[in-house]
Amino acid sequence: SPADWPTRDLLTHRRETSPEKTAVIDADADSDERWSYREFDRRVDRVASALESALGTQRRDTPRSNASASPDRVAVLMETRPAFASLVFAAMRTGRVLVPLNVRETPSELASKLERTAPEAVICERETETQAVSSTDRPIFSVDDPTDSTPEPVRPLFRGIEGEATAPDPVSLERDDPFLLLFTSGTSGEPKGVRLTVGNLVASATASAFRLGVLPSDRWLCCLPMYHMGGLAPVLRSALYGTPLVIQREFDPDATARVVDGYDITGISLVPTMLARMLEAGWSEPDSLRFVLLGGAPASNELLERARDAGVPAYPTYGMTEAASQISTATPEQTRSHEGTVGQPLAVTDVTIVDEAGDPDAPGEPGEIVVSGPTVTPGYLEETHTNAAFGADGLHTGDIGYRDRDGRLWVLNRRSDRIVTGGENVDPGEVADVLQAHPQVEETAVVGLSDPEWGERVGVLVVPNEPTAVSTDDLLEFCGGRLAGFKQPKTIGVTDSLPRTASGTVDREDVREFLREEGTDAASLE
Ligand code: ATP
Ligand code: MG
Repeated sequence: SPADWPTRDLLTHRRETSPEKTAVIDADADSDERWSYREFDRRVDRVASALESALGTQRRDTPRSNASASPDRVAVLMETRPAFASLVFAAMRTGRVLVPLNVRETPSELASKLERTAPEAVICERETETQAVSSTDRPIFSVDDPTDSTPEPVRPLFRGIEGEATAPDPVSLERDDPFLLLFTSGTSGEPKGVRLTVGNLVASATASAFRLGVLPSDRWLCCLPMYHMGGLAPVLRSALYGTPLVIQREFDPDATARVVDGYDITGISLVPTMLARMLEAGWSEPDSLRFVLLGGAPASNELLERARDAGVPAYPTYGMTEAASQISTATPEQTRSHEGTVGQPLAVTDVTIVDEAGDPDAPGEPGEIVVSGPTVTPGYLEETHTNAAFGADGLHTGDIGYRDRDGRLWVLNRRSDRIVTGGENVDPGEVADVLQAHPQVEETAVVGLSDPEWGERVGVLVVPNEPTAVSTDDLLEFCGGRLAGFKQPKTIGVTDSLPRTASGTVDREDVREFLREEGTDAASLE
């Protein structure tokens, strides 16, 4: 109820309680730019005023117009940078729902998301102006000053907003107020729009703190895209905790390791491929670092071992957009005592494992992971998605996993990844494990390819660990004695690196396409 919920926005609280503390550090700025919470709050007011003068006042308690656009939504097409963080709070302060868009998408992909969400305007930056123009007819505003090459109809967001802006009256916040409309990565189909409330984000930040702790000396480095949950979570968390957020626009193995050292970073969120690249580049013994929140995709035991050897504290994490990021996080100790686990769910999150009929499974028994609790979205943008995924017991994640008697969770794969060939189920993880044991194999992706005779057949894409390509013959022979006939790879391909979505998960559709075009059929080798 409103009575037990703070009514001021989250940043106002910080301006009042710790105005002098550092809020934001721009690690890319030559001058090492930092804003105190007072300064951050002032910047957010400026963005909020600019939004109001560009788009009009938007209050949740005022009746909505019947316009074709959703007047309370504003889209953002920007890379990770301090201005993005300001927009997050400015949207909150002016009663708007922020719709972050993936800058790596094509104009037609963006156009479809803009159509589905119908925001009142798109906020972009210099680098994305052209992309925005080719994706939408809606008003476009840039947070950067115009140049000679700024395309028509892009307008500067801050035109007419000089110096100290008059602060708009802050909107009062309630737990169930919508705050974000964030798209999933689209690993298993068209990206789904996830509605997240203020309460979802606050619950996630709170429960995460219960697991990782918060110290006055904490500093979180954000180098993931802010248009994904993993990059956005630290923005909100830092403001809630009152700790500084260090922002780096682009991840780079060496540059990111330097920022961790140079800025005494204590926490960083990475996807496994990023951590692997940093370790390969020689990253070791980061002095100040308390945790690497390692999520988005499974972390191999080999990677965790390498992290351990390098003195990098990795916390494997299972999370998803729908749960405002973290669902479950393992400690470095747990990764040693219980290989492959993502630990116990966060304190406020309930996880059950259910069988095909929806009944709870016994410990050790794999089934679909169902999550519920205050971090979980009230639903998707489109009701069809909501109806398909929610049951009385919570959100059916489509991920397969199991728990042990102490509640530790293991994530195996996605339900949609399961390959059905000639009526037999094949777990892609089992095939991947066999291939991974081959000395020349670095990484693999195992997918089902449609097959006229068997329904599906097993396809594998292999990344060798040496540039001297491993032979497909050799791989097939290796699988021969180790896998039943129906589990054998029938199409095989070799490549330099696996295709991935922006959030680090393997893009299985791209793997299928690669195999269809460049794969070798096992039959042709026999
Ligand atoms: P879409 O829902 O559109 O298919 P997506 O599920 O990849 O895309 P995200 O919300 O970015 O979109 O990713 C969450 C998913 O990532 C989880 O549901 C799970 O499948 C996978 N994932 C996240 N962390 C882990 C992990 N530690 N181990 C295995 N899988 C993980
Ligand atoms: Mg998903």
